Amino acid sequence: MSADFAHLADNVLAAIKGGATIVHLDVMDGHFVPNITIGPPIVKWLRPVTDATFDVHLMIENADLFIPEFAEAGANWISVHQEACVHLHRTLELIQHHGCKPGVVINPATPVETLSEVLDMVNLVLVMSVNPGFGGQKFIHAALSKIAKLARIRRERGLNFRIEVDGGVSLKTVADVVRAGAELLVAGSAVFDGHDITANARNLLKAAQAAVPDKQVEVIRA
Ligand code: ZN
Repeated sequence: MSADFAHLADNVLAAIKGGATIVHLDVMDGHFVPNITIGPPIVKWLRPVTDATFDVHLMIENADLFIPEFAEAGANWISVHQEACVHLHRTLELIQHHGCKPGVVINPATPVETLSEVLDMVNLVLVMSVNPGFGGQKFIHAALSKIAKLARIRRERGLNFRIEVDGGVSLKTVADVVRAGAELLVAGSAVFDGHDITANARNLLKAAQAAVPDKQVEVIRA
């Protein structure tokens, strides 16, 4: 959502050139969050541009209605909000049924504990470090303890989900984020600032790797 939508393909390729490995697509419906972004057609048109994984973050009500369309359009991973899904278990199964890897997302006010029963069925847990709806917001530091808690639970229960962070990830915050235990970093305005997208992505990835030299981290474009 931070990219220039009139030049979306070029923006995506510039970020990939800088080391981004996953394309994170923020889908907003104007109901669950106070903003509107893109739907399945944009995912479909963007699909031939790159082989990179498409990580679709649904910030919408009635996700079940749209999951088949996003899968058909070329999503690889689809994540839904714990707060937006009344039947979360069923929705995660539906994502899997359509050939995509399911993820679950929690807002800043939602405790990690609410995910206890679904952690063994998700590919990723996305911790929101801002309240979703807009780019360029300030990082909420309480997200760090949630990331650390998830990493501990994953270790204790021998689970395999990856920990992703979305919101306010920048050169200022990225070291703390990866040290807390996150390995998938969503960067929006830190990469798409209207200047050199490739250099921004490269510098962010470098800063992340420098903070945890023994660990694999990936920078994602949003
Ligand atoms: Zn997102």
